[in-house]
Amino acid sequence: MIETFTYINADFPWFFATFSFIFGAITGSFLNVCIYRIPAERSVVFPGSTCACGKPIAWYNNIPILSWFILRGRAPCCGERFSVRYPAIEMLTGLLFYVSWIMHPPVVAIIGCLFIAFLICSTFIDLDHMIIPDRFSIGGMVLGVVLSILFPSLQGVEGMPIMENVESGVRSITGALIGAGLVYWIAVLGEIVFRKPAMGEGDVKFVGFIGAFCGWQGAVFAMFGGAFIGSVVLLPLLLLSRIFGWKQEASESEDTVAFGSQVPFGPMLAVGGLIYFLGFDRYVDAYFADFVASFFG
Ligand SMILES: [Zn+2]
Repeated sequence: MIETFTYINADFPWFFATFSFIFGAITGSFLNVCIYRIPAERSVVFPGSTCACGKPIAWYNNIPILSWFILRGRAPCCGERFSVRYPAIEMLTGLLFYVSWIMHPPVVAIIGCLFIAFLICSTFIDLDHMIIPDRFSIGGMVLGVVLSILFPSLQGVEGMPIMENVESGVRSITGALIGAGLVYWIAVLGEIVFRKPAMGEGDVKFVGFIGAFCGWQGAVFAMFGGAFIGSVVLLPLLLLSRIFGWKQEASESEDTVAFGSQVPFGPMLAVGGLIYFLGFDRYVDAYFADFVASFFG
């Protein structure tokens, strides 16, 4: 089976690459359900997808990305509009799974897809509700540690059996602790300086999760790189999404809260974590290695 896989992968490099995109789009379709139902504490498995009018959506009208365009964003039963966010999340998941596949060896790429799925769910739930559910942050942290112990290549560790598993697990736990600790202290200091909570407990746990998968360098980059990228790219996008109403549910009680005070940090941290995991890690790690060497060398 492994031989067949290696053979196909070597002779038809586009095969698994294409498959990773399609698999990502299908996963994105499921993530749409998770993003909508998990905050409402509803099952993500049962019942199947229904339209806002209550009618079930047939499978042939539920094909990731394509259906939305074929139906021109409207339900066939009642004409209800479907948000463009549904195909956008399917497209995004497909693209990110594809990048994970081409950037990493197969085992790390597949674990990466799980990491990406958790990041996407947390990001959009945070955008909608300003919370990151514990099952993604704490659950993801535990998952990151367990997967690091089982597959040391996730932390870039190679060596003797058992020793490599221990080292990889230690790196993952260190990443979670440094990531969560850093954001915790930034939150505490931010509250002293700005006299109001800047980052929440959810962000602390969320960076712990990123650190468990990416190590401490990834967690630190997610925090600072994410904040930088966020202020340059994400803030204008958030503003646009407010204007065009891309949210699943429009919340009308926003007039009392200024825009800037309500920025969810989760999406910025997620973008930082993604950029690190999908190729920027080599530059960031080299930077930190230089930095540490300049202290002790
Ligand atoms: Zn309908």
